[in-house]
Amino acid sequence: FGKVKTGQPAAAAGPNSSPAECNLVLLGMMGSGKSALTVKFLTKRFISEYDPLLEDVYTSEQMVDQQPVTVRVMDTCDQDGPANIERYLSWASVFVVVYSIDSMESFKRCQPYLHMLSLRGKTPIILLGNKLDMDPYRQVSQREAEDLASCFSCVFFEVSACLDFLSVQHVFFEAVRRVRRG
Ligand code: GDP
Ligand code: MG
Repeated sequence: FGKVKTGQPAAAAGPNSSPAECNLVLLGMMGSGKSALTVKFLTKRFISEYDPLLEDVYTSEQMVDQQPVTVRVMDTCDQDGPANIERYLSWASVFVVVYSIDSMESFKRCQPYLHMLSLRGKTPIILLGNKLDMDPYRQVSQREAEDLASCFSCVFFEVSACLDFLSVQHVFFEAVRRVRRG
C-alpha cells in the first residue's frame, strides 16, 4: 500500500457531491490497536508488532457499494491525548476513536477525544472497541460503550484486528458511507 506524507490537504468535495475520497483519522490511546487495524484493513493481515511511535497516512483505492473511493487512513499516535489536534482536524472527513475492550483505561481515554471532536464540528465519528478476541478479559461492556456512543451521536462497533478481515473492513466501509451521506 502506498504512503503519502501527512499534512497534505485533500481536495475538498462539495457538501452535496458524493465524495470519491475519504480521509479517515484513527485516534485513541497508544496500544489500543490503531496500527494493527490499519494494517489489517490495507493488507488483510495482522501484524502484531508495529512501531508504536509511527504516524503516517496510507492511501488505498477501494470499492464501496460498487463505487470507487480513495481512502486515506491517518494512523496517529497521540501520546498525550488530544493535543496537537490541528494537524488532522481540518483534514479529516471521518474519525474513528479506538479503545481496547480489555482496557478500561483506553476506554476512558476516548471521552476527551469525543468531547473535543464534538465541539469542533460535524465530522462523523465512529467509536470502535478493538481486541474482541480478548473477550474473556473484557473490562468494557458493550452497554457502556453504546451509552458513550449515544452521548456523542456516533456509531459503535467491536472488532478484532487479529480475527476476521471482513468485520474490520466493514467498519472502514461504514466510515466511507457516513462520509458519502455528508
Ligand atoms: P496502537 O498504539 O494503537 O497503534 O496499537 P498497535 O496497533 O501498535 O497495537 C498494540 C498492541 O496490541 C500490539 O502488541 C498488537 O499486537 C496488539 N493488538 C492490536 N490489535 C489487537 C487485537 O485485535 N487483539 C489482540 N489480542 N491484540 C491486538
Ligand atoms: Mg500505532
